[in-house]
Amino acid sequence: MNNFSDVVIIGSGLGGLLCGAILGKNGYKVTVLEKNAGIGGCLQSYYRDGALFDTGVHYIGGLDEGQTLHKIFSYIGLLPGLKLKRLDQDGFDMIQFGDDKTVYPFAQTYPRFIDKLAAIFPDERAGIEKYCEKIREACGYFPLYNLRLGDFTDKFPMLDINARDTINSCVSDRLLQNVLAGNNWLYAGVADQTPFYIHALIVNSYIESAWHCEGGGMQIADILEKVILSAGGMILRNAEVTKIDVEEGKVSRVITEDGREFSGTWVISDLHPVTTIGLTRTDLFRKAYLDRLAGFENTTSAFVLNVVFKEGVFPYHNHNLYYYSRPENVWNGIDYQPDKWPENYAMFLTEGPDGTARTASIMTYMRFDECRPWAGTHNRGFKPAVRGMGYEAFKEEKSSRLLEFVEKQHPGFKNCIRAFHATTPLTWRDHTGTPDGSLYGVLRDCREPLRTFVSHRTKIPNLLLTGQNLNMHGVLGVSLSAIVTSGELTGMDFLLDKIRNG
Ligand SMILES: Cc1cc2nc3c(=O)[nH]c(=O)nc-3n(C[C@H](O)[C@H](O)[C@H](O)COP(=O)(O)OP(=O)(O)OC[C@H]3O[C@@H](n4cnc5c(N)ncnc54)[C@H](O)[C@@H]3O)c2cc1C
Repeated sequence: MNNFSDVVIIGSGLGGLLCGAILGKNGYKVTVLEKNAGIGGCLQSYYRDGALFDTGVHYIGGLDEGQTLHKIFSYIGLLPGLKLKRLDQDGFDMIQFGDDKTVYPFAQTYPRFIDKLAAIFPDERAGIEKYCEKIREACGYFPLYNLRLGDFTDKFPMLDINARDTINSCVSDRLLQNVLAGNNWLYAGVADQTPFYIHALIVNSYIESAWHCEGGGMQIADILEKVILSAGGMILRNAEVTKIDVEEGKVSRVITEDGREFSGTWVISDLHPVTTIGLTRTDLFRKAYLDRLAGFENTTSAFVLNVVFKEGVFPYHNHNLYYYSRPENVWNGIDYQPDKWPENYAMFLTEGPDGTARTASIMTYMRFDECRPWAGTHNRGFKPAVRGMGYEAFKEEKSSRLLEFVEKQHPGFKNCIRAFHATTPLTWRDHTGTPDGSLYGVLRDCREPLRTFVSHRTKIPNLLLTGQNLNMHGVLGVSLSAIVTSGELTGMDFLLDKIRNG
C-alpha cells in the first residue's frame, strides 16, 4: 500500500505538528507519522497518581500580545483554546544557593528585571542594565526571532560569543554573575561552549513574559492536531519510520516498522538530523557532511522526580526554583561526580484547587552513562518499565537521594508527598527518540559555531528537517524552525507576512 500526500511529516513533536498545521492552513495535504501511541513528543502531558504531569514544557516565554510567539500562535489559531497562567511578574524564576535564604528573582519586563536585582545588588545597577542591553542587542541579530526576513549572515557576529564570559563581563559581583546564569537549565549550558545568543534569545523571551500552560503542554498538541485534521490532513500514531527510501536523488517513500509505505512531494523530518540521515541509508551525502553530523555533541540528559503532594500541605509559589548547593555550580552541573549527586535541581510546581501545591517536577542533570546497564532495553512512551529489578532499584536509590537533598532546603518536604515516580535518560531516549536521552538535541558551540549549525535543507531536495536541532530548542525555538521549514514550501516572505499581520 502506498499512501500519497503533499507532505509526509516524520514525528509529531511541536516541530512536526506545527509544520503540519502551517502547511495544512496553506492548502497542503499532510500526513504525520508518529512512533508513539500519543502525539506531541515533549509536549505530552500524562496523568499519574491522579495528577497531571508535563514531560517537556514547564513554561513558555513571549506569549503576551504583540510578542513573537503570540503572533505565531495567533496565526495558527492556538490561543483561544490554550489555558495559560502568567507566572509571577516579580519573579518567574528564582535562583537560590546553598544555605543563603535570599532568593534572587528574574522578573518580567526589563525595567522590573533591573529593579528587582538592583535592589539586592545596588552597586551593580549599571552592570545589570548593560547585561539587559547586551541581551536585546543579541536578539536584534536574529531577524527571524523578530519575524523579519533576513540573511543567513546577519547573525554571524553573534555566533562565536560565549555566554558565561559575556555575562561575567557585564557585572563584577561573582554572586550576581552566577545569578544571571542561574536558569541555564533552560538550555543545559556548558561553560566554554554555550553561545551567548542561546542565553539571550531564551532569557529575553521569558523576561518579555513567562507563562505556565495550565492543563499541560499537551493542549498545544491537541489544538495543532485539530488544525491538521480540519485541513484534510492525517496523523497516524504507532507509526515508527524505519526507512526513508531514496531513488534518483529524491525521497521516493517512507516506510514504517510495520511495512506501511507513504510518499509525498515533500518529506519533513522532526527527528534528530543524525537519526534522519541514518534512516536514508543513501550514499548521496558527502563524507564531510556525515563526519560533521557524527561529531555532534548533544545536550545532556536529566533525572526527573515527579511528586504528588497530599492535599493542602505544601505551599504553592507561582514561580520556578533553580537551586544550587554552591554558586560556582551554576556552570558545572552537567559535570557532576556521581558520588556527590545531586548538587542542584530545578523545581516546577503546579497549583491544586485549594491554592496549595498539587505536584512538583524536580529535575536534575543525569548523564546517559548512568543508565548504560539498561541501554539495551527499550520502552515506548510512558508504558510501565520492562527494564528489570536492577533498573527499578537504581531509580529508587536516585529518587531517595534527590528527596534527601530537597528535604535539606525544604524541611518536611518528604512528609508532604503522597506519591512519586521518576524518569531517567532512558525514558527520554525512548519517549522522544533523541540520542542518549538528550534534553534539547544538538549542543551549540561558540568555539565552532558553523560546525553545530543544522540547515533545514538536506542534499536530498525533497527532504527537509525541522524541530529543536535547527536553530534553537524550546517552544519558541522550535516554532521558529517550523516557520523556516514550512516557508521553504509556502515562501518565507508570504508566511512571515501572514504571521506578522494576523
Ligand atoms: C525535561 C524537558 C523540559 C523542557 N522544558 C521546557 C520548557 O519549560 N519550555 C520550553 O519552551 N521548552 C522546554 N523543553 C524543550 C522543548 O520541549 C523541546 O525543545 C521541543 O518540544 C522539541 O520539539 P521537537 O518537535 O523538536 O522534538 P520532540 O518533541 O522530541 O518530537 C519528536 C517526535 O518524533 C517522534 N519520533 C522519533 N523517532 C521517530 C520515528 N522513527 N518515527 C516516527 N516518529 C518518531 C517522537 O516520538 C516525538 O514525538 C524541555 C525539554 C525537556 C526534555
